[in-house]
Amino acid sequence: MKAKRKPAKAGAPEVVELFLDRDRCKGCRCCVEICARKTLAMGDEMNSKGYLLPKVADNGECAACGLCATICPDFAVWLSSEDEEA
Ligand code: SF4
Ligand code: SF4
Repeated sequence: MKAKRKPAKAGAPEVVELFLDRDRCKGCRCCVEICARKTLAMGDEMNSKGYLLPKVADNGECAACGLCATICPDFAVWLSSEDEEA
């Protein structure tokens, strides 16, 4: 899932890619609750275990703070940017 980034400094990448390991996720909502920008929201899609998965919210602008990845108890979400991948 990709989120627009609202850069905190000039020259920062403008697109952040959030990676989700669907089968690790337990739908606990921790990543959604901790995101101050409301970039994440719970979706209506379930994984193979029946847990609802988070998604990038409409108009969500990621700060690339990494808190969602830090808080996830199952290491199911992490982020990268297109610049880092190049
Ligand atoms: S990196 Fe920060 S701003 Fe971006 S989705 Fe995660 S918690 Fe929200
Ligand atoms: S914090 Fe991790 S396990 Fe919980 S909903 Fe987010 S990605 Fe899924």
